[in-house]
Amino acid sequence: MAFEVMDYDVIIIGAGHAGCEAALAASKMGCKTLIFTLNVDTIALMPFNPSIGGPGKSHLVREIDALGGEMAKVADQTRMQIRYFDHSSCPSQKSILCQVDRISYQMEMRLRLERQENLDIKQAVIEEILVEDGKVTGIRTKNDAIYHSHVVVLATGTFMAAKISVGEVSLDAGRQGEMTTFSLSNSLSSLGLQFNRFQVVTSPRIHRRSVDFKKMTAIEGEYDNLDFSSYSDSNHIPQVPVYLAHMPQNTVDIMNRHVKASLFYRSFIKNIKSYADDVHFYSDIFRKDIVDCSILIEPDGLKTDECYIRGLHNALPPKIQLELLQSIPGFEKVEMTRAGYGIEFDILDPTQLNHTLETKLIKGLFTAGQINGTSGYEEAAAQGLIAGINSASFVKCLEPLKLDSYDSYIGVMIDDLITKGIPNYYVTESNSASHESKLKINNTISFLGDKGYRYGLRVYNDSMEGGNKYNG
Ligand SMILES: Cc1cc2nc3c(=O)[nH]c(=O)nc-3n(C[C@H](O)[C@H](O)[C@H](O)COP(=O)(O)OP(=O)(O)OC[C@H]3O[C@@H](n4cnc5c(N)ncnc54)[C@H](O)[C@@H]3O)c2cc1C
Repeated sequence: MAFEVMDYDVIIIGAGHAGCEAALAASKMGCKTLIFTLNVDTIALMPFNPSIGGPGKSHLVREIDALGGEMAKVADQTRMQIRYFDHSSCPSQKSILCQVDRISYQMEMRLRLERQENLDIKQAVIEEILVEDGKVTGIRTKNDAIYHSHVVVLATGTFMAAKISVGEVSLDAGRQGEMTTFSLSNSLSSLGLQFNRFQVVTSPRIHRRSVDFKKMTAIEGEYDNLDFSSYSDSNHIPQVPVYLAHMPQNTVDIMNRHVKASLFYRSFIKNIKSYADDVHFYSDIFRKDIVDCSILIEPDGLKTDECYIRGLHNALPPKIQLELLQSIPGFEKVEMTRAGYGIEFDILDPTQLNHTLETKLIKGLFTAGQINGTSGYEEAAAQGLIAGINSASFVKCLEPLKLDSYDSYIGVMIDDLITKGIPNYYVTESNSASHESKLKINNTISFLGDKGYRYGLRVYNDSMEGGNKYNG
């Protein structure tokens, strides 16, 4: 028997990178906001690599900061290393990459949510979006609690009707074996929304004591005066190195020999012929190195010895994943703590959205993040911020924020999603914007700062864009 609980101005479903930005924006704009997550302990979890930024993506992070979002500040506060990339004469190619402490990032973002006025956090499974006459009226939880609201932001990431697989084993589960739900996509489909299936693969993780780092190249961070956020002060950086390891041809041969021993590849990635094809799926700052067969060993945090392996994405049987790892110099005695896995899930066809990220079909229903077919924390956070601002604008009858593809990479991303849809998945790259030379990581405030002030999310501060050595 359903029971009614409480009314909110804005309800956010999902506390990943999209949901966190959406909730903070809506509540800071004065809306009584409620954010749901399947598990409070996984707020702002990074299921993939422990880093933020890189080409294209660092534009998004700086734009989030210019509009008054949180990702840049939290990344600065929890980082273990920061680097500046200046590989090209083209200004748009310059980028920043932060290695963050995965757990500290989660805890810091969670604390910001917990301490935010107007914002409540609840752990519950949402099964149904309630709609009357084409307008959102609320949501229903698995326990039949009903929360009323005229605005709902869906930011459910990789969880809807999700299946994970490793080798021949496949089960209904979200990332890292978390809970999944089929009811929510059924509820949305019955309202007339169209979905596609989507897949991503992640890499194994290892214990650092089992690695011979002498056989690898250490990559150190930049030491002075480099921050993501215009509000940050870079004095505290610990600067832990990451390591580059060469992947010999033998590793690629093992991968190619066993590629069909994975249910994931057989079922979902129809055209894949070899591992070399697979690596081309991934847009990455180390793309060149990965294609040239190198991998990156990224420490997960200051209080753990687990490391993430970037560039070895696969869903092969664990025994073969170990064989792959052991074929890499420095990994002869490696201990694999977690195997890589593949996940497939429902995503919304984003051509059903308008520029505000509200669905065209249902008034008051906004969607943001990986549910819209993007991949990446930065893409998710950027959309979450826009959906949060626009959901609060909806409640307060303010003019919505529609970013132009000429003033931001966020605008380019949203325009691409809603006009072109997603043949594969969408990842922002430095050449995503056709007029890329105009949009730099050091001029985001001049393009977007006023918009941040207008919605009350950005406060004036002295540092602006001039306070950072690497801004020029
Ligand atoms: C295996 C894997 C591999 C990846 N590989 C890459 C990669 O190669 N490159 C890259 O850039 N990115 C990669 N990512 C993607 C990146 O992690 C995501 O794009 C990003 O985290 C998405 O953020 P989000 O906020 O949209 O959703 P998520 O971070 O997935 O958060 C979703 C939130 O929704 C909540 N939720 C879901 N359903 C419900 C419900 N019914 N009721 C209540 N709460 C609910 C969850 O609890 C969670 O809080 C990968 C992710 C995974 C899982």
